[in-house]
Amino acid sequence: MTIARIPFEIIRDPAAMRARVEDFRRDGRVIAVVPTMGALHEGHLELLRNARKRADIVILTIFVNPTQFGPNEDLAKYPRDEAGDLEKARTCGLDLAFCPEASAMYPAGAQTFVEVRELQQPMCGASRPGHFAGVATIVAKLFHITKPHVAVFGEKDYQQLAVIRRMVRDLDFGIEIVSQPIIREADGLAMSSRNAYLTAEGRQTALGLSRGLAAAEALVKSGERDAATIVAAASAQLAGARIDYVELRDATELSPVTTLAGPAVLAIAAFVGATRLIDNRVLTS
Ligand code: AMP
Repeated sequence: MTIARIPFEIIRDPAAMRARVEDFRRDGRVIAVVPTMGALHEGHLELLRNARKRADIVILTIFVNPTQFGPNEDLAKYPRDEAGDLEKARTCGLDLAFCPEASAMYPAGAQTFVEVRELQQPMCGASRPGHFAGVATIVAKLFHITKPHVAVFGEKDYQQLAVIRRMVRDLDFGIEIVSQPIIREADGLAMSSRNAYLTAEGRQTALGLSRGLAAAEALVKSGERDAATIVAAASAQLAGARIDYVELRDATELSPVTTLAGPAVLAIAAFVGATRLIDNRVLTS
């Protein structure tokens, strides 16, 4: 039996969204959600296509979440293009978009936050205090509002994925978390909404991140296992960028690795001009 597709709809009110998905669940439909902050690129569209294969109803959420931005970060100037985003997303078979106002997501007096104590600490958590509490909290809220069976996230935000997987496990959300490999430009740069901030020169400097990961991987393939040497090889490619961190960590626990023995993630965060970029690759011995 083919299930009739529902007409596309944009919903802004959390209560209205909850009511819609309750109906879908009552009808036995499988729901997938793809949470984003908008400014969609091909990486986001792959998440949607991935979701489309797994569910009857695909929900895109677009919300620039204020609680995951630090006081000196780019919340105010984060690129926003809802109409353009929805046009692109609809080519991927989107059913519903949830695009709430910040006041609807964080009513006055909101004071409850989700923290994934250990996984939120290192790497991006160290340079962006409070970031992952903001991420975990908004994702928990979006899960409660959209009640998905499946949620699709990109490996581009590796630590975010680890934090969300742990939250879902620890708090018994019962949602399948699917990860989507990083989508890159032809020259290797990981796609990011923040790439739009780069100058032509910065765009070239930014290639150092993917080059660094490739150099490190080549070294590992040639037999290198020493973390400091692997990290140094990646860092050497970052000329012109200001390194925030280059670290090799256990792929699941994100604990420091000194000798590569099992799956480990080599993660880079670096500023190109004022733009903070991240990239990563999982290395296996
Ligand atoms: P964002 O709105 O860019 O913060 O991210 C929304 C989702 O898209 C997250 O799950 C990201 O990991 C994912 N994402 C962003 N860029 C990429 C990319 N280049 N490849 C794969 N997934 C991505």
